[in-house]
Amino acid sequence: NLVKHYPITTGALVKHVVGQVKAVDGVGFALSPGETLGLVGETGCGKSTLARCIAGLHPVTSGTVRFDGADITNLPRRRMRPYRRDIQVIFQDPYGSLNPRRRVGSIIADPLVIHRVMSGDRLRRAVQELMERVGLNPEHYNRFPAEFSGGQRQRIGVARALALRPRLIICDEPVSALDVSIQAQILNLLKDLQAEFGLTYLFIAHDLSVVRHISDRIAVMYLGKVVELGDAESVYERPRHPYTNALLSATAVADPDEAQRRRRVVLTGDVPSPIDPPSGCRFHPRCPRAQEVCSSVEPQLDSTLEESAACHFPIEVVV
Ligand code: SF4
Ligand code: MG
Repeated sequence: NLVKHYPITTGALVKHVVGQVKAVDGVGFALSPGETLGLVGETGCGKSTLARCIAGLHPVTSGTVRFDGADITNLPRRRMRPYRRDIQVIFQDPYGSLNPRRRVGSIIADPLVIHRVMSGDRLRRAVQELMERVGLNPEHYNRFPAEFSGGQRQRIGVARALALRPRLIICDEPVSALDVSIQAQILNLLKDLQAEFGLTYLFIAHDLSVVRHISDRIAVMYLGKVVELGDAESVYERPRHPYTNALLSATAVADPDEAQRRRRVVLTGDVPSPIDPPSGCRFHPRCPRAQEVCSSVEPQLDSTLEESAACHFPIEVVV
């Protein structure tokens, strides 16, 4: 039941809170070891905020984050330290997340230095091994980020995330900024590393087709809530929530049969503001299936079920 609200303030000297951005508004799910959960939704739905809350990079407003049964919600820095080793993040922007003035070897070495794992020659060898493992030339450890392509830069980000041998890696849109051909290479690399190191992924994307093949399960987010959760193939092939269906309709479908089968839904209106989200079902102003009850009664997701959609009138599954 994780909640993250940001206060909106006015005034230069004395700040007055005039509202709350409800970025994450009661989200709950469990991740099993070795699993990949794909988290999808449009820009601004709260995916990145949720990721940062789980990684302990943002304080949580309410609710609980547990890791291996331990409550790690809003831990002070020192007590969060061991979990920082276990939980790493790969960021979206392979350009912005690497300091352009630092050599890639020292960027990748950072976590090992900060956590005082090793130094000197051992450190350099470890960094070169990591570079090799992610498909970079280990001889290039003295180069600067600008000397690498976008895909290679994301490999640098992967190597850095891998350095401490974490158990959970939160991948926040790691391929969104890359060309489609490069995307597949990075996704394959992440899959290989998962098998080799027994990693668990929370994989964030705005495009369902990106997470389809890498995920075991998919969670769909809309305006701070998870609206559908289920096995990756079922969510992709037989979406039950009207919003999931709309998201799928928006992604390009290469196969004309599939395009036919999938009745296209055009979403009307803009994404409402997370400051004052709609009453009842947050999707009701844009939902083609909405009925009167939708604007007053909020549908609930049951994250203990294998498949669940937070909708009063889910799309029937035809088997
Ligand atoms: Fe649409 Fe109603 Fe379902 Fe919300 S609860 S998604 S408005 S049908
Ligand atoms: Mg984001």
